[in-house]
Amino acid sequence: MNRRALITGITGQDGSYLAEFLLNKGYEVHGIIRRASSFNTGRIDHLYVDPHTPGARLFLHYGDLLDGTRLMSLLSQIAPDEVYNLAAQTHVRVSFDEPEHTSETTGLGTIRLLEAIRQLGLDCRFYQASSSEMFGSSPPPQNEDTPFHPRSPYGIAKLYAYWSTRNYREAYGLFTVNGILFNHESPRRGETFVTRKITRAAARIQAGLDQHVYMGNIEAVRDWGYAPEYVEGMWRMLQADAPDDYVLATGIGYSVREFLALAFTHVGLDWERHVRFDERYLRPAEVNTVIGDASKANVALGWKPQVQAPQLVRIMVEADLRALELGGSGPVDRPELPGWTNTSG
Ligand code: NDP
Ligand code: GDP
Repeated sequence: MNRRALITGITGQDGSYLAEFLLNKGYEVHGIIRRASSFNTGRIDHLYVDPHTPGARLFLHYGDLLDGTRLMSLLSQIAPDEVYNLAAQTHVRVSFDEPEHTSETTGLGTIRLLEAIRQLGLDCRFYQASSSEMFGSSPPPQNEDTPFHPRSPYGIAKLYAYWSTRNYREAYGLFTVNGILFNHESPRRGETFVTRKITRAAARIQAGLDQHVYMGNIEAVRDWGYAPEYVEGMWRMLQADAPDDYVLATGIGYSVREFLALAFTHVGLDWERHVRFDERYLRPAEVNTVIGDASKANVALGWKPQVQAPQLVRIMVEADLRALELGGSGPVDRPELPGWTNTSG
């Protein structure tokens, strides 16, 4: 029997890489997608095969973290061995505009899932996508023992979900884990996150399609890793003998300014001639510096990332250049890049 996984947020960056990873491991993969007026499955279309095809192992179901009844019926029907809760309103700046929606999805959505698992008495392992944003203004390096001080509605909602995940472990003995992941990026990163915004702008400016890109606080420092390596860390957490919480990070910080320089230099441009400031991209409260210490995951799970920011920039800029060449607006993952596996045959 194949092991069965349920992924919420399967249409997102991490969900798409995790689905690839689990399919390659032989899992039967179920994903929850939201009903939308236009297609929202661009990141997983290459994995999809008609469910009537013999041997099909990817199944998609309509659902929403706002709808607890639906989550209950899906969990009962699928009876997964592993649940990966990646769905959320994930954008920090947007969370200041939509704090209530962010709390509903990113915070309460998690308890809806946990409560469904508990009430159904499912024997399954649960992964919660926790975030370095929970550390907020606590000084780096941050690890599993660093005090939390979130600085946004997103960070606060993630902290609610983090504690809910721990509480269901302590109160009910469920196998629930928090992966506290630092920023991780890829050609599939949403276009409004800073890394992708920069690599896409560098490609478009180099191609003569744009002249400028407008940015906010470019002094912020982040610990940027490569998403395909981080989804393997998620899976490793659920294979451990006992449930626990782990930081995943590279341990090296770069400023947005440095990321800009790397990306524009890669396409032969001087970033200072093309970047302009727009205060709309500032946040009411900022997380200035996050740099993670992932030694616990390294020792206990054998997890160690290989890709650092300079290589990440190259991967992302090259993919955005290629997307322009192909005439599409979406990201293109190139087969020769690390982490790529095409399971659609
Ligand atoms: P994305 O923004 O790329 O994907 C978010 C996913 O959540 C999408 O599939 C989206 O669906 C889905 N979603 C949003 N709202 C709902 C809802 N109400 N019900 C069901 N699904 C919903 O995020 P990432 O892949 O980058 O991140 C995965 C998880 O990891 C997130 O929880 C994020 O907060 C967390 N995280 C990410 C980090 C990073 O650097 N990437 C760092 C630390 C934590 P749709 O496609 O329809 O919008
Ligand atoms: P976050 O770490 O989850 O908030 O990920 P983002 O990629 O959205 O932002 C990373 C950092 O880049 C934050 O400190 C932002 O304030 C900073 N930043 C500077 N300019 C921009 C911008 O134009 N867009 C975004 N998204 N972030 C920006």
